[in-house]
Amino acid sequence: MLRQYELVERVARYDPDADVAALNRAYVYTVQKHGTQKRASGDPYFSHPVEVAGLMTDLQLDQETIMTALLHDTVEDTLATIEDIEDNFGPDVARLVDGVTKLSKIEAMPENERAAENLRKFLLAMSEDIRVLLVKLGDRLHNMRTLHFIKSPEKRQRIARETMDIYAPLAERVGMYEYMREMQLLAFEQLEPEGYATITGRLEQIRRQDGGQVDAIALAIKQALAEAGLRVEVSGREKHPYSIWRKMAERHVSFEQVTDIMAFRVITETEADCYSALGVLHTTWQFLPGRFKDYISTPKTNGYRSLHTSLMYENSMRVEVQVRTRDMHQTNEFGLDAHWAYKQGDKPDGQVGWLRDLIEIVDASHDAEELLEHTRLAIYQDRIFAFTPKGALHQLPKGSTPVDFAFAVHTDLGAQTVGAKINGRHMPLRTPLNNGDVVEIIKGKAAEPQLSWLGFVVTGKARAAIRRAVRLKEREEVASLGRMLFDEIASRVPAKIGKKATREAAKRLDLEDEDELMYQIGAGRIEDRAVMEALVPGCTADMEVPVDWARQDRAISIRGLTAGVGFQLADCCHPVPGDRIVGLRVPGERVVVHAIDCMELASGIDADWLDLSWGKQSIGAVGRLRVTLYDRPGTLAEMAGIFAQNLANVKTLAHVQKEHPFSAYEVDLEVQDLAHLTRILSALRASDSIAQAERI
Ligand code: MN
Repeated sequence: MLRQYELVERVARYDPDADVAALNRAYVYTVQKHGTQKRASGDPYFSHPVEVAGLMTDLQLDQETIMTALLHDTVEDTLATIEDIEDNFGPDVARLVDGVTKLSKIEAMPENERAAENLRKFLLAMSEDIRVLLVKLGDRLHNMRTLHFIKSPEKRQRIARETMDIYAPLAERVGMYEYMREMQLLAFEQLEPEGYATITGRLEQIRRQDGGQVDAIALAIKQALAEAGLRVEVSGREKHPYSIWRKMAERHVSFEQVTDIMAFRVITETEADCYSALGVLHTTWQFLPGRFKDYISTPKTNGYRSLHTSLMYENSMRVEVQVRTRDMHQTNEFGLDAHWAYKQGDKPDGQVGWLRDLIEIVDASHDAEELLEHTRLAIYQDRIFAFTPKGALHQLPKGSTPVDFAFAVHTDLGAQTVGAKINGRHMPLRTPLNNGDVVEIIKGKAAEPQLSWLGFVVTGKARAAIRRAVRLKEREEVASLGRMLFDEIASRVPAKIGKKATREAAKRLDLEDEDELMYQIGAGRIEDRAVMEALVPGCTADMEVPVDWARQDRAISIRGLTAGVGFQLADCCHPVPGDRIVGLRVPGERVVVHAIDCMELASGIDADWLDLSWGKQSIGAVGRLRVTLYDRPGTLAEMAGIFAQNLANVKTLAHVQKEHPFSAYEVDLEVQDLAHLTRILSALRASDSIAQAERI
């Protein structure tokens, strides 16, 4: 562990103006506060913040960052409060410590809540000040270095996964490649122990066989460049096992097929030298077309600058070479934004640019793909995050609507939804939510999820809840209709029917209970006669056989009728889809559907009138026509041809009248809807063979 004086000396070395006394106080404070707490390794807890502070001195960060690193766990893990930190170390350090503490709290949430915790909140907390992120990355790196001490395999896995998915990409994003690589390597060892063991084993083997291969190639590169008069430094290394693993996975190749396991770095004095060196390399060795990248003239978005190329060494070995100046190298490996933060002076105020951008891009989720394509942060792309007015966060799939949101908050809230305000404005319930939206659900009194919501909700939870509620409501309606019908049926039997007789009847009909009986009656699944028989066995023996209701095509649906209520299309007017219709309900009978201009309706039937309209899937209704043909050979065939051409099925054809020179037929025709029927009528009327055609 870094001693107190060593740490302070390190800071003083790169920042002569540092407040040594304050650093010492922070060191003593963390030692005192953490007291006898122990790490999983058995070390005193305070060794952790001290090590993190040490990592921050490697980045030559300002004293406030070093103090923050020292104090970063005091508020979370000891009795110290933010106020204590502020009293002792001032508002700036307190603010930074608060930022790191917030991140720790997000991390400490239980798995399911944390999954719902959002990247946005996380980024926001860090974006207050880049130094919060740097301390957090140092914290995570040290925790990864000591991860093997943690006993629970689940906990190790979780931390490793989180490191791989969130912290390594963040380190990459700020250009802290060394942090990124070490985090990935440590996480890889945890997440893919077998892969890790295999690759490190093979690398070890190669090292034994080709001992000094890396050094030999580095020397060859250096010599070639020296002969061209370039003064350079060359270093070489094997790629780390995780990047080899990733190559194997990405290219679906075996270890043997991953040929570029060595990487070399050429450090030049000037930018011009970079290009000169590249020229020498490309003329000395065969280079691989398509692998050359010029990040000097076009830096990466994080500011990274270097030339990259791949060479064939001795015709068999692919090696990767990076060429850059010393300045570029410093900046690249140090962390660009870390560098930036320090260069900005003592107090880099406000949000960090790229983090702010990242939040904006995360917000405008359609652009996230572009920015995050190379990082696992992309796992958040297909989600959006929305807040309740009180600030509670909910994570939803992209495309989610206020109804999805309401059901995500609570099933009851979903059921009671009647409207929504998004960011304070009334919006339609089908509006897709955007990242960061504040969604206020407006509740109605009754819980009445609408069937039509199924047309736009995207979450399974909402979908299932709506279906369940709609089914229940339909059932209730059908059952209450059934109850009315039942009372009427019961009045026809020669006995007074009470609760007990009703229960008995249900039992005789093999139905679970009274409610089920009412539902079956309402749905038209039981004949009146059967109900009467169940109530008073034998009572219908001398009754006439009731009219056998024509089985209607199941494909016809009529809006305004609760699903499952039995109906039949009237025989008198033969309504077809497209006709305006009305339903007549006579107790004990099915709803009979008439065309609105049917003469029967005028005769004053004693029934309830139901305002109905055709549903979407109305097909296969029967229209009745009267067609008058000229009485001569071939005219009947002509009429049949017109029906066939129009794909209308003739159900019945009756010759009704012969009166020279005419011959009249009544035709029952299966048609899709009124438009279909009208088309057929027009075709008939246009024919020379047909004198007249009309609906009857
Ligand atoms: Mn910590």
